[in-house]
Amino acid sequence: MTKKQVLKKYFGYDSFREGQELLVDGILNRRDVLGIMPTGAGKSLCYQIPALLLPGITLVVSPLISLMKDQVTTLNQAGIHAAYLNSSLTPGQYQLAMRNVREGKYKIIYVAPERLLTKAFLETVQQLEISMVSVDEAHCISQWGQDFRPSYLKIRDFIDFLPERPVVAAFTATATKEVKEDILALLDLEEPVQLTTGFDRKNLTFAVEQTSSKWKAALRVVRSHKDECGIIYCLTRKTVEEVCEELIKNGFSATRYHAGLSDEERRRNQDEFLYDRKLIMVATNAFGMGIDKSNVRYVLHYNMPKNIESYYQEAGRAGRDGLPAECILLYSGQDVVTNQYFIDRMEAPEGADEETAGIIREREEERLKKMTYYCFTNECLRDYILRYFGEYGSNYCGNCSNCLAHFEDKDVTDIALALVGCVKESSWAYGAVTIADMVHGSKNAKIKRARLDKNPYYGKCSKASIHEIRQVLNYLVLQGYLEAAREEYPVMRLTKLSQTILEGQRIFMKVAKERQKTETKTQNASGQYDVDRGLFEKLRALRFTIARQEKVPPYIVFSDKTLAQMCLIMPKNKSEMLKVSGVGEMKYEKYGERFLAAINEQG
Ligand code: ADP
Ligand code: MG
Ligand code: ZN
Repeated sequence: MTKKQVLKKYFGYDSFREGQELLVDGILNRRDVLGIMPTGAGKSLCYQIPALLLPGITLVVSPLISLMKDQVTTLNQAGIHAAYLNSSLTPGQYQLAMRNVREGKYKIIYVAPERLLTKAFLETVQQLEISMVSVDEAHCISQWGQDFRPSYLKIRDFIDFLPERPVVAAFTATATKEVKEDILALLDLEEPVQLTTGFDRKNLTFAVEQTSSKWKAALRVVRSHKDECGIIYCLTRKTVEEVCEELIKNGFSATRYHAGLSDEERRRNQDEFLYDRKLIMVATNAFGMGIDKSNVRYVLHYNMPKNIESYYQEAGRAGRDGLPAECILLYSGQDVVTNQYFIDRMEAPEGADEETAGIIREREEERLKKMTYYCFTNECLRDYILRYFGEYGSNYCGNCSNCLAHFEDKDVTDIALALVGCVKESSWAYGAVTIADMVHGSKNAKIKRARLDKNPYYGKCSKASIHEIRQVLNYLVLQGYLEAAREEYPVMRLTKLSQTILEGQRIFMKVAKERQKTETKTQNASGQYDVDRGLFEKLRALRFTIARQEKVPPYIVFSDKTLAQMCLIMPKNKSEMLKVSGVGEMKYEKYGERFLAAINEQG
């Protein structure tokens, strides 16, 4: 079979998403890989597909029991033999699983990192052909992140122990430089194929609200998502309790999750949510890692979290199926106070001296500041987040509360003309930063040394802020009026369109209006599938019944997106059903006919 056939047969998808193919190919060519892709991008398939094509067994190291369980259930549902080995198994179950492992019954085995170096496991794997070790949530190896797991440091010893070095694949959604370097070094990846996809999640809408009543705002959001799943994050256990109780009093289907509950209750509540028996999860940040539930339609932050990393990770749990979803943050000044309180009481990591602890605290404060700015910026929220992660997007996404409420068309012809003119008159090709500095009239060393102040456009826009000039420059590149040519480093070049600006064409750009503090409106996301709602609900009910029979979460049977596609395509027979994204042969055999029947008795 080819990788494409595996993708269709087992997972029901017709094409790879951005970046997936490169990593799959890397692994199939026996190269190590490092994939850095945002939550929901589809990292699992990057190793699951090659796992099925390589001759031996693939071991997947994963930090959380719930995560392993979810993945293994998904694979088993797709007709793939997989299992997990972790502390949730009784000794009897563990032994049975190990016997099956020895007999080669599984193609993919999920292992908790703590298990890797146990004697029994080492002895067993030495008898087996291990083609690949895939490290999921690989940022757990880095002490920089908040998810550090000391047992991840053992992975490398484990690999060294194997008779033959397998392909090592690592995946994470954390993109900071420190974390990436840690992964490369601590896993000892050998000239890996590396891929970082864009961090933008286009299907997510972002909104910030400063409101006099958070509760009313929350009610409005929850009501606009009737019958849909959502997560509400709060900073403290107390708020979780209050919000959850109020929701239930008001007749909503809600449950809760925080570190103050017993393990047993946490597990039960989590399942209630995963299985769609409760639609709203109210939780602290203790909830979420490894939650791959794909049909979360909104993530509401009742409080501002401590930094953008946390915010984007938590908000990113919305819309994993690629359908539109909302991320709303309710801000109040008290949130800053609460977060600062947490920072002040933060325990220093083990073995850290006073000075290190101080540095860590300062860093946290810096991050908190940037999170707070997010709540106040007039600019595009998406752009703000992407810039935080070192990416440059457009300054206007048209799909966040700022873009929808606070932008106006501004005539930026003067700045545009100066920038294009400046590039044209430069005797040498310069990068974006330098060009913007020249137009702004900066007096830095580089400008003096290279005598860039002799350019006729030097200082032409000294009244505009450097930030605005850069925005316009970015806009010109996006619109094709200038080009960021990749040479040794990116340099600005004229394009065919540049001339139109020199000839006097006027340029308008969306810019943030001065903020008048009005209450922002978030888009109502109901009716987003734009399909026959009655049929959709019917298929959802069927999915719920099947899920209960099979004892798996509904989204593992079929995702919302797959159901929505069924409503659009209205398949009449098997071959039409197989065209629906998310319906593979294995799934068809299990459920295809029941869904066909449900669709066609519609008349
Ligand atoms: P990640 O681990 O990157 O957060 P997952 O591997 O859990 O993301 O995938 C997120 C969702 O995207 C899953 O529901 C998965 O089935 C779906 N998905 C992955 N690859 C594709 C694809 N090529 N086409 C359609 N859906 C995909
Ligand atoms: Mg994942
Ligand atoms: Zn925007």
